[in-house]
Amino acid sequence: MEDCIFCQIARGQMDSELIYEDELVIAFRDIDPQAPTHILIVPRHHITNLDAATDKNVQLLGHVALVAAQIARQEGITAGGYRLVTNVGPDAGQSVPHLHFHLLGGRPMQWPPG
Ligand code: AMP
Repeated sequence: MEDCIFCQIARGQMDSELIYEDELVIAFRDIDPQAPTHILIVPRHHITNLDAATDKNVQLLGHVALVAAQIARQEGITAGGYRLVTNVGPDAGQSVPHLHFHLLGGRPMQWPPG
């Protein structure tokens, strides 16, 4: 995906504040943070959103969850708690059509979200 911004970040063609990377995912700070810790965990492979994921992505999706927990420990937000969110489609407010998970923490959060 030539013009996908998260593909460009994953390829190192666009700057980001990188937190973590491995062969499957990258994680970087959100450019418009909604909490003291707001990190995006992004598969390197282009998948539009969770609705486009398949059985082939089972390992990847489990990996994302464990990477999120590891980053949360590194960020020191585990005791206070945190949220891992993926937005799918317009009603959820998905603005970047490349699967990503928001790791949010460092402040109390409302439930349900607005
Ligand atoms: P969503 O609205 O769930 O699709 O989330 C997309 C997120 O990507 C938003 O929170 C944006 O602030 C964030 N974002 C967009 N472009 C960049 C970028 N170049 N670097 C870091 N975060 C970005």
